[in-house]
Amino acid sequence: MQQIRTRFSPSPTGLLHVGSIRTALFSWLFARKKEGKFLLRIEDTDFNRSKKIAVKNIIESMQWLNINWDEGPYFQSQRFDRYNSIIDDMLNKNLAYRCYCSQERLNNLRKIQINNGNKPRYDGYCRNNKQYLHLNKAHVIRFCNPSKGSVSFTDKVRGYIQFDNLELDDFIIRRTDGTPTYNFCVVIDDIDMDITHVIRGEDHISNTPRQINIFKCLNVKIPQYAHIPMILSDNGQRLSKRQNSDSILKYKDDGFLPDALLNHLVRLGWSYKNKEIFNREEMITLFDFSGINKSPSIFNTKKLVWLNHYYINHLPVHYIANHLTWQFNKENISIKNGPPVEELIPLFGKRYKTLKDIVQNCSYIYEDYLEYDLTIVNKYLQKSSIPILIFIRKDLENLLKWSIESIRSLIEVTSKQFKLEKNIINMMLRIVITSVNSSPPIDKILYIVGKKRVLSRIDKIILYLSENS
Ligand code: GLU
Repeated sequence: MQQIRTRFSPSPTGLLHVGSIRTALFSWLFARKKEGKFLLRIEDTDFNRSKKIAVKNIIESMQWLNINWDEGPYFQSQRFDRYNSIIDDMLNKNLAYRCYCSQERLNNLRKIQINNGNKPRYDGYCRNNKQYLHLNKAHVIRFCNPSKGSVSFTDKVRGYIQFDNLELDDFIIRRTDGTPTYNFCVVIDDIDMDITHVIRGEDHISNTPRQINIFKCLNVKIPQYAHIPMILSDNGQRLSKRQNSDSILKYKDDGFLPDALLNHLVRLGWSYKNKEIFNREEMITLFDFSGINKSPSIFNTKKLVWLNHYYINHLPVHYIANHLTWQFNKENISIKNGPPVEELIPLFGKRYKTLKDIVQNCSYIYEDYLEYDLTIVNKYLQKSSIPILIFIRKDLENLLKWSIESIRSLIEVTSKQFKLEKNIINMMLRIVITSVNSSPPIDKILYIVGKKRVLSRIDKIILYLSENS
C-alpha cells in the first residue's frame, strides 16, 4: 500500500494563527494515524510579503504544540530552478505560452467584462495570437487551461465538486520578473514530495481545479483533497492572519498549555461522538475525515480557558511545572530562591485558569521584598494588631519544625490567646505575607513562603504600624 504523505504549507506572511495551525493539526493527525509522513513546506514565492520572522514564528509555534514534522522545512524560494525548468519544458510542448498583454489591455478587458456582467478572466489573446512570440518584450507565462469540458474531484470533506473549465482562465504560472506563481509551485511540490492527501482550508477550493489541470497536463497522479471549513472568532468574524490577537504564541504568552489549545483546535470543525477531552494519542486514533463538519466552527475562548483549567489540574505536576517555569522566566521572576514550582500547582491550580494568572498571583512566594498596597494594609491592620503580630512572630521563630500542621496549630493558639476568631488572624497574616486579601489557605502559604521571609515581612509591618498608625 502506498504510504500516506501529507504536508502543511504556510505562506510566511504573518504570525501563525489559529486557522492555519488547525489545518496543520488535521494534516499531522491524518499522517500519524496512517503511520505516514508529515512534511513542512514554506511557501515563500512572494518575496514582497514573505518574512523571515514569520518563518521563525511558524517553526516555534509548531514546536510549542509539538506538531512534529518528518521532512522539511522545504522552502519554495530554494526550488525556483526546478519550477522554471518545468515551465520551460511546458513552453516547448505548447502546454504554456508567453503572454505580452499590457496591464492597460488587461484593465480594459476587465472593465468590459464586468460592465457586461461577466466574471473577469483572461481571454486567451496571446494563446491565439503568436505574432509577438519573438519580440524581446516583457511577458508572463500562462498555462494553457483546457478550454472546454470540466474538472472535478471528490473532496474528502465536501464530496463531489465540479468546475466548468470555462470558469477558469489561462492563469499566470510565471510572472514578468521570472518568478513562478503559487498555483504552479504547489503542484510541482506536491508531485516531487509525493503528497497523497492535500488537507487545507476551504478558501483554497477555487485553486484546486486549476491545480488539478496542471497535474493532468503533466500526466501525473492527482492527490486526494480535503478542504476544511473556516474558523470564526468569538464575535463571528473570520479569523485572519493579520489579527495578531489569535497568533499561536500569544496563547503561550497568555499562559495556555499546548494540550489545551490542541484539544480546542481539534474540536473546531471535527467531532467524535460527544467526547470533549482528547489527549494526543486519542486524537490520532480517533481522527477521521468523516468527523469533519462542513460548516464553519467558532473559536470559543471560554471553552479554551475551561480546557486549560482542566489540564492544569489533570496533567502530571512535573509537566505543568516546566511550562510554569517558562512563564516565571517571561515575567522576570527568579524562582531560584523559593520552593520548587511543582509545589505551587496543588495550591494554585484550582484557583487560577491560566499559568500566567498563577505566576502573577504568587510572585510574593519568590520575591524577597514585597510592595505593599497600603490601603489594604490599613484596612486590615492597626496599631492594636502589633501585640498579636509580635506574639505570633515569636512562636513562628521558635517553631522546631516548619510544617503546615505546626503553623496551623500556632494560629489556633494565637486565636485563643487573643480571643479572636481564627479568620481574623488568618487575614492579618495573609495581608502581611502576601499583601492581598485572597490566597490559598494561609498555613500553606506561610509554609511555602518559608520562615525567613515570613519573619522579615512581619517585622516590616510591625515597624510600619508602630510608625504610622
Ligand atoms: N500557502 C497556502 C496558505 O498559506 C497553502 C497552500 C496549500 O495548502 O496548498 O494558505
